Formats: sequence, C-alpha cells, structure tokens
Amino acid sequence: EKQENDGNGSRILVFVRLRPMAKKEKEAGSRCCVRIVNKRDVFLTEFASENDYLRLKRVRGRHFTFDSAFPDSTTQLEVYSTTTAELVEAVLQGKNGSVFCYGATGAGKTHTMLGTVENPGVMVLAIKDLFNKIRQRSFEGNHVVQLSYLEVYNETVRDLLSPGRPLVLREDKHGIVAAGLTQYRAYSTDEVMALLQQGNRNRTTEPTRANETSSRSHAILQVISLQISISLVCYITFLIVSFLLCHTQVLVEYKVKDASNMVVQRVGKLSLIDLAGSERALATDQRTLRSLEGANINRSLLALSSCINALVEGKKHIPYRNSKLTQLLKDSLGGACNTVMIANISPSNLSFGETQNTLHWADRAKEI
Ligand code: ADP
Ligand code: MG
Repeated sequence: EKQENDGNGSRILVFVRLRPMAKKEKEAGSRCCVRIVNKRDVFLTEFASENDYLRLKRVRGRHFTFDSAFPDSTTQLEVYSTTTAELVEAVLQGKNGSVFCYGATGAGKTHTMLGTVENPGVMVLAIKDLFNKIRQRSFEGNHVVQLSYLEVYNETVRDLLSPGRPLVLREDKHGIVAAGLTQYRAYSTDEVMALLQQGNRNRTTEPTRANETSSRSHAILQVISLQISISLVCYITFLIVSFLLCHTQVLVEYKVKDASNMVVQRVGKLSLIDLAGSERALATDQRTLRSLEGANINRSLLALSSCINALVEGKKHIPYRNSKLTQLLKDSLGGACNTVMIANISPSNLSFGETQNTLHWADRAKEI
C-alpha cells in the first residue's frame, strides 16, 4: 500500500513511534494523551488545563494518519523491519537512503536509533542485517562495509569515532565530505555496538543542562557498502595466498588493500540520523525563526525543514547549502534516494505541545 511517487522517484515514508510512559511522568500525575489505532492512526487528546474546574476533561482531539504508527509495546526489531529493512536492501543495489529520528528531547530518538546492548536499535540492526545479506550474496563478489559517525553541534562537525578538532567540509568528486573523517572498516556486528556507544558518549552535551544529554547535537551514522570485483589473475593469486595462509580474514584485507586491482561495482550509502531535540525549532513565526538562526541555535534542524518543505512543494532548488547537516546529506535526501522519518513522541499530556508539533511536522513531511 506504499504509494509510489511520480516525478523524480523520491519518496518519503513517515512513521510515528510512541514510547511508554516514564516513571517520572507517572509520578507527576500525567495522563496518556495519545492513542494509536489500526497501526497507522494517531489520536491526540487535549485535556483542559489544571485550573479548569472541568479538570482533565477531554476538550479537543486531533487525528493523524501515517505509513505506520507504533504503539508503546512495539519492539526494536519491528521498528527496524518496518522502517529500514527495505533501505538496507536498496543500499546493496547501490541506492542511497536515510532514516531520521525526529522529536523532542526525551521522546525516544536515541533509544530508537542506538538502543542498548540488550535492546539494540535501528543503527545496530541495520548493520547486522547488512552483514547477513552480504553473506547470502557472496556469489556476487566481495563487499566492504565502512562506517563513519559524526555529530553536527552548533554548526561544527566532529568525528565521534575519533574525537578531536572540528572537521572541515570539502567538495570533491564524490560530493561533500568531512575532511579527515574516520572510515571504519567493519567486519562483524559484535564490534559495532561498542563502537557506537563510545561514539555516542563523545557527543556534545549541553553545558547548562548536563543531565539532558546531546539535546542539541545531530548524530549521523553513515554506512557505506561497496561491492567490489577483482581481475581473474589477481583472484588466483589471492586464492594461493589464502591457501598458504589458511586465513580468510587476511584474504579479505589483501583484496581490499590492493586497490589497483579492485573494481568497485556498486556503492550504496545509508545515513542514520539521531536529530537534535526539536523543541527549539518549533518557532513558526519569522521573527522567532530569525532570532533562533541569529543565535545559531539550531540552524541545521531549520535547514532540514526548509529542504523538506522545498521537496514537499516540488521545487527545483533545494536549499542544501544552508547548513552543515543538509550539506552532509545532500546525496541522501530527495532525488532518487529513499527517505524515512521516524517521529518519536511521549504519551504524557505534560508533553502535549511538543507532541502536537512533532505530529504536525511529520504530517507535513509525508506529503513529499
Ligand atoms: P531522546 O534521544 O529523544 O532525547 P531517549 O531515547 O534518550 O530520548 O529516551 C528517553 C528515555 O526514555 C530513556 O531513558 C529511554 O531509555 C526511554 N525510552 C525511550 N523510548 C523507549 C521505548 N520505546 N521503550 C522503553 N524505553 C524507552
Ligand atoms: Mg537522544
């Protein structure tokens, strides 16, 4: 039932994920204001204010429909299979894609993207699936998987796998790249979770609200899959080398290092993005928007919205150049790329405003 888009073949799927009520929210006496029906309909209820004598009486309801809406009981694997599995398949065909988690701080973005060791999220499940799929297709040639993990914080790009000085964006023949960014060659899923968790700990935390981690930084994991083939002569040499060394790992390394005999047949890139908390980007009037931009608070999130709006309106010019985030994602957003948006929301009526804004934003994005 996913409708194909006419025009340039770009499409965006929009999902909503509701997280369970947190202990703190329960203790604060909050009520659930979100109801998910039929796996795709989201009903948002506004209650009368605390001071109202009709206290907590339902006053208004709103209804939204998405490609899928996940109730709070949904597993990480279900979220992955519904939102991202197809994109991983497409990446192996050489098609780029991106998955964004959008929502207010505390709504469940990092849980959805990274998750925990016991309960890994989309980033880890995507890499695991990619390795499985590559194993099934070993007849197609050899695949190399490369990972990079960076953050955009206050329009500064930093390498999360090797923290240090800010990285400069450059335009080269492959498009816009962060100069010097670590490209980690991954061989198995096991090593990836630890790597990404360490990367996440390297994210910038907000100085004034130290307990609310990374609410202003965007984290981008890019997974590149290269399918390579080598000439027959080299292949025979490799077989001999491999036979002598009896060690397949060495064989893989050797093939990869010997770039001159390597023919890259297909390259696909998957970008998985844990966006900064959207609560600061909710300004709708121009004046607030300008002051936000002036303060450089979250230019990247605003720029992403502008790009999505331009794509929604079918504009020829998409303003990718307005921020670091959109420059980095230029080859993964719009055009022939697959784009997935996961809007994360809390069930608590105390977050009603943020939830409403997130749902409006997601509702708008689905028109692309
Ligand atoms: P964000 O990254 O949007 O600021 P987090 O992912 O850090 O939010 O989530 C906030 C808290 O809620 C965390 O303690 C997290 O473990 C918990 N949480 C979020 N989503 C879920 C979920 N689907 N199931 C269980 N706990 C969740
Ligand atoms: Mg987070």
